[in-house]
Amino acid sequence: MHCWIKVDKNSDFSIYNLPFGIFSEADQIKRVGIAIGDHVIDLYAVYELGVFKDLKFDISVLKSDYLNDFIALGKPITVKVRADLQSELCNEDSFLKSHPSVFIKQTKVTMHLPVKVGDYTDFYSSIEHATNIGTMFRDPENALLPNWKHLPVGYHGRASSIIVSGQNIHRPKGQVVIEPNSPPTFQASSRVDFELEMGFIIGKTSTLGDSVSTENADDYIFGKVLFNDWSARDIQKWEYVPLGPFLAKSFASSISAWVVTLEALEPFRVNGPVQNPSVMPYLSSRGSRNYDINLQVAIQPMNCKETTVSRSNFKYMYWNMNQQLAHHTVNGCNLNVGDLMASGTISGKDPKAYGSMLELSWAGSKPVELNEGGSRKFIHDNDTVIMRGYCEKGPVRVGFGAVSSTLLKAK
Ligand code: CA
Repeated sequence: MHCWIKVDKNSDFSIYNLPFGIFSEADQIKRVGIAIGDHVIDLYAVYELGVFKDLKFDISVLKSDYLNDFIALGKPITVKVRADLQSELCNEDSFLKSHPSVFIKQTKVTMHLPVKVGDYTDFYSSIEHATNIGTMFRDPENALLPNWKHLPVGYHGRASSIIVSGQNIHRPKGQVVIEPNSPPTFQASSRVDFELEMGFIIGKTSTLGDSVSTENADDYIFGKVLFNDWSARDIQKWEYVPLGPFLAKSFASSISAWVVTLEALEPFRVNGPVQNPSVMPYLSSRGSRNYDINLQVAIQPMNCKETTVSRSNFKYMYWNMNQQLAHHTVNGCNLNVGDLMASGTISGKDPKAYGSMLELSWAGSKPVELNEGGSRKFIHDNDTVIMRGYCEKGPVRVGFGAVSSTLLKAK
């Protein structure tokens, strides 16, 4: 594919990508945009010019605070919107060439939370991550709990504190136990961590009582984002028994602003790890259900250059998204458009591919060196954590941009 807009070959937003997001200009009116190279394409303006004339839908969904109403039109419409725009951008005679105002420099816009998240679920689907945590805190001989290879373990998280890249957070406070077997104290967390994850956004509602099969799960996945599941390890350690994560996770989770569609990720499908023991029939999935997505995490202290501390890949996931959705709905629990499911920390086998400081610094015992001096066991005040993700195959590059948030001091 060749498009007539100049796009750098290293841009995440190639003609093959065309991710959706919510942007505004100085007038502060939020609208649906598509990213191409350094530009945002204003879809409302493009619609008014008649590019989507074969598609009948309410134009107001393109002038909206969130993508939800657009996504709810369904894939027959949203996939066509992206495909029509793609062919227009490859058409040398396109009439869009004479309407430069629909292309806005990304440096001139503000990006907003793309989706109004209804429910948010976080899985725990990387075998390397679950093994590391089990080894550190329980028993290296039995690092995985007995259920782990039989079902994709997950918990229901908090949607209200999901923020978009560029928004910053304050160090959370809470109860922590400093000396084992001592009473808890109340303080700012001293072990704030990131978790390198990816999220997927539900694009189709299911009916209460129905289940979604692994075979049909793709129909329910609109697209993917980068996801930083901020975690306070000291708060987590004291509070998590017996019901799992609570305030150690709910203070914030950051997502990237552009939602990359499942269609754009199609060329990057790969087989997942062999699952042994074999899974129950409702969890079995055929074909290539994992995706080869390179992932990186960098830490940037204030006024310093960043240091890449982790290089991982989404393809390492033991449980794929289709299995996660089949499991999520097997009891009849319904899905809504705008729900967000996160993968769980994505660690690889190599210690440089671990997806959290907890693993990279092995519970604080091995500080991670930074390029400009100093080291980190966990995240310091005024550190910015930046996650990036991209797929590459020959000349085809599809990326996610970044999710970046700074940890400010406790309020
Ligand atoms: Ca997590």
